Amino acid sequence: MKFHEYQSKDLLERYGVPVPKGKATSDVNEVKAIAEELGGKVVVKAQVLMGGRGKAGGVKLASTSEEAAQHAKEMMGKKLKSIQNPDGLVVEKLLVVEQITIAEEYYLSVLLDRALQKLVVMISIEGGMDIEEVAAKNPDAIVKLYVDPAWGLSDFELRKALTKAKMPKTAFNQMAVMIKKLVKAYTENDAELIEINPVALTEDGKVIAADAKVSIDDNALFRYKSLAESASDSFSDPIEAEASNRGIAYVRLDGDIAVIGNGAGLVMCSMDEIKAAGGQPANFLDVGGGAQAEQVKNCVDLIMMDKNIKGMFINIFGGITRCDEVAKGIISAFDDLDVNIPVVARIEGTAAEEAKEMLLNTKIVPESTMQGAAAKIVELSYR
Ligand code: GDP
Ligand code: MN
Repeated sequence: MKFHEYQSKDLLERYGVPVPKGKATSDVNEVKAIAEELGGKVVVKAQVLMGGRGKAGGVKLASTSEEAAQHAKEMMGKKLKSIQNPDGLVVEKLLVVEQITIAEEYYLSVLLDRALQKLVVMISIEGGMDIEEVAAKNPDAIVKLYVDPAWGLSDFELRKALTKAKMPKTAFNQMAVMIKKLVKAYTENDAELIEINPVALTEDGKVIAADAKVSIDDNALFRYKSLAESASDSFSDPIEAEASNRGIAYVRLDGDIAVIGNGAGLVMCSMDEIKAAGGQPANFLDVGGGAQAEQVKNCVDLIMMDKNIKGMFINIFGGITRCDEVAKGIISAFDDLDVNIPVVARIEGTAAEEAKEMLLNTKIVPESTMQGAAAKIVELSYR
């Protein structure tokens, strides 16, 4: 789950990372008072989960509280678009922070190298801009410092990395301290990524996190109860957000043939077969093991929220899952929901015969092989 900038900064502040003073609000009418309290010279920042807000018009500098209120009105409720988010994200929250005078902008991030089983701290003095661009044009400008979680971060390695990154003297020690705090925050909070871009060096020589991005491993969400309740904001896709609320493993794709299967491997295989048959899968959905009728119905209902779908491929292998339970779910879903697209089901395994019998007088087309079923649904969907 991705944290908004204001949430990320709150977390980092608890670890002693310097961040500009500020306050988040969902009420535009509050912005003027917040700005006044911060001395008038502020930055108004859209709290949407995308990069490049600056370029997209989501970061505005104001010299007075009136100007801040004006920026806030222009931003709130509007969609912010970027290349990665062409549909745009609606601005529902703003962060108002004191304006700092930036002399230089650096880049810091902590992530995980799964292959090496180590944390990686990325350091660059070319911050502020798109780090992917720096990586492409000038890869040597990014220094990677690997941290073995068992040994921790040693001072000499940290100083060596900062030296290699050509970190200026004024910022050097403060950067070292900040990196240690980021690594601590990262390991203690089940983070997947912490990124500060830019780390600002102010005119008066202070190093401060001017932006912050923290994302937490979803498997640790139970430790973030209050935040997890608002986790749906962190999904840019409304159906994925709903799936997360319902506890369904669902990923939306851009095709038009919906897929439901039990077991991630079987679902991925079904997606491949649809592709091989000339179709485009609309989603990944794993109903899980031992799927009960109610759960299957819940999944069909979720899938039907995607208005682009032209057909549905249900692929169930009954091991622990009883196929007749699944069939019950499908039938009840079709009785209650308005499913007006072709559906092909390949159901094999425990109680498959009973299931096939149950589906006999329904609209659902049974197929006995995965390839056959994929070919059939492609044929029926694109007719
Ligand atoms: P992003 O575009 O979504 O990464 O948003 P950032 O928070 O990184 O802001 C974009 C840019 O706005 C930064 O790289 C800074 O150059 C500038 N900026 C952000 N906050 C301040 C500030 O307090 N003072 C000044 N002078 N510039 C700021
Ligand atoms: Mn940034």
